[in-house]
Amino acid sequence: MSNRNVKVARKKLDILVDTLQEREITIPSLCRYLNNTFNSMSIRFTSKLDDFFSISGFFAGSVKLDNELRYNIHIDYDEKGFKINPKELLIDEIFPVIVHEFRHGYQERQRGKKQLKHQHRSASDDFSYLSDKDEIDANAFEAANCPNSSNWLFSRYKEIFSKDYPEYYHRFLKKAYTYGILNK
Ligand SMILES: [Zn+2]
Repeated sequence: MSNRNVKVARKKLDILVDTLQEREITIPSLCRYLNNTFNSMSIRFTSKLDDFFSISGFFAGSVKLDNELRYNIHIDYDEKGFKINPKELLIDEIFPVIVHEFRHGYQERQRGKKQLKHQHRSASDDFSYLSDKDEIDANAFEAANCPNSSNWLFSRYKEIFSKDYPEYYHRFLKKAYTYGILNK
């Protein structure tokens, strides 16, 4: 399934980290590198100067707009000319978003029918977002594949659901373990 794509994406990011080394670059410039690297996997990266730093992923599914690739990852940054050392951002922040959106792609393929857009993490504290069946699945898959996400996701699900809605918490746990969290 998309485990193979996850491995390919991770390899591409590792190579990009090696290429960029310790160099500090701006977010738009990083997006150019990412677009060259990930065009073949149908992922597009965009960025915009905004009020705060955030990364969001969109799975366009079968309701693609013109010129839109299947997966779109958007970075907002809050300081003009802001430069980063790309390693942490690429591995800890961008990789989990790719993994999560790939899972939505997989869900759609499994279902064999059209699916509406998914937005990653923009409403991450939101009860209905986290309890959505596809989001539980995508978040569990992300937790199992991305060490940087797993603690955060485990504690969100525990905090929000374990007391009053344990079925959502248990569904998340069960899936995360099934997807291999124990092997990491
Ligand atoms: Zn999602």
